This record gives sequence, C-alpha cells and structure tokens, in this order.
Amino acid sequence: MTNRVTITRISGNSKTGPITTTRTDRATCPTTCPFYDAGCYATLGRERIQWDRLNRSETGVNWDEFVSQIRRIVPNGVLWRHNTAGDLPHNDGLIDYLKLKQLINANKGKKGFTYSHHILNDHNIIALQNANGLGFTVNASCESVDDADRVMSEHNIPAVAVVHSEEKRRFFTTTNGRKVITCPAALHPGKVTCATCGLCQQSDREFVIAFPAHGASKKKVNAIVTV
Ligand code: SF4
Repeated sequence: MTNRVTITRISGNSKTGPITTTRTDRATCPTTCPFYDAGCYATLGRERIQWDRLNRSETGVNWDEFVSQIRRIVPNGVLWRHNTAGDLPHNDGLIDYLKLKQLINANKGKKGFTYSHHILNDHNIIALQNANGLGFTVNASCESVDDADRVMSEHNIPAVAVVHSEEKRRFFTTTNGRKVITCPAALHPGKVTCATCGLCQQSDREFVIAFPAHGASKKKVNAIVTV
C-alpha cells in the first residue's frame, strides 16, 4: 500500500517547538486503536484539516521520498518527531518492517522519535524492539500507566500513556512503583516544548511518560483511560 507523509521542516506547533515534524495518512492507523473513532485528537481542529488534505493526497510525498528527505534535511544529532497524526505503515495490523527499516536507516545519527498504537503481537513487538535498538525511538502508546509499566517490563519497549485530563502531578508512580513523568509541555504550555525536553526520544529511560487528555475530545478520552 502506498503511504503518504507530510514533512514540516520547522514546526510552528506550540507543543513540539521548532523541530521537524511529520504526519502520515490515516491508513496507517490501526483500527484496534481505542481512540480510532473515539477521541483521537488528530481528528479535531487544525490537525484534522491538515490530515484531511493529506488523506486526500492533496499534500505530502510518498514513503520513499519521505525517508529520503529525512535523511537529507534533518542534521545529525538533531531531535525530530515523526507523526503528529498517523502511525507506522502496516499490512493488516502487522507493522511493515521494510518501511520501518527504511526509516530506521534514514534516522541514523539523528534523534527521531514517534509513538505507535499498533497492537503488541509478537511481530509488532519485535519491530518496535528493533527500531528502538537501532536508534529510532518508537514509544508504545497505552491507555493506562500500569499498562505502560507492563509493556516496559515485559517487552523492553519505552511506553507512554494517556491519563485523565485533570492529572496535574509532575511525578507519580504506577501501582508497581515505576516512576511516571507527566509531559512537561502539557503542564507548562508555552514554557516547555519537545524541542527543549526530548524525554520521549530517550528509548532507554526507566520511566513512563503520561499525557493528560486535552482538547475537545477529552471527555471521550477520559472515559477510555484507566489508572
Ligand atoms: S514529554 Fe517532552 S518530548 Fe515528550 S511530548 Fe512532552 S514535551 Fe515532547
């Protein structure tokens, strides 16, 4: 399947800060994602408008051109964030490892990171472990910090979790005692950005990162997330 990706060389997004960001077409999203039709923030507001244009193939480039551009435009040692919308290309729910490997190779020497809501079956676990082991950080997206803790312990994959919109603690722990850090850009909008933080890119970290639900869909998301 052909996938399309838009690349923003220097993002104007107030949460990411001025780094290179991308979004990938909606066909990459697993229909098993609990937010697929229920609260996904990419289906709202400005991100929705941009994503719709990409999904209609009015913007973006194909996957080969995308990885080629990442190789050329992101300097070595520099942080960049893949997918403000979309997920990793897949075939019937199995991550397309050939495309992922292209991206891993393009990211060599750079500090790329992303998130994935693909179901953690054996195939996808190995794909994410390989990406993280080879320098392209893919965080497993979870709906509770306890689930994220389990993913990190059982699979050695960095994990993040969406939490209730009212979560205001900077630090807390999972039921099993693993440290959780709430995304500082969510707690201190305008003061911290991905560009100045970079925690999500640390694939060997020991802590879970929590994202409080936000925006117009937060009620729907609050109904899905658990402790
Ligand atoms: S924890 Fe840091 S890197 Fe991750 S999303 Fe928040 S600001 Fe960006």
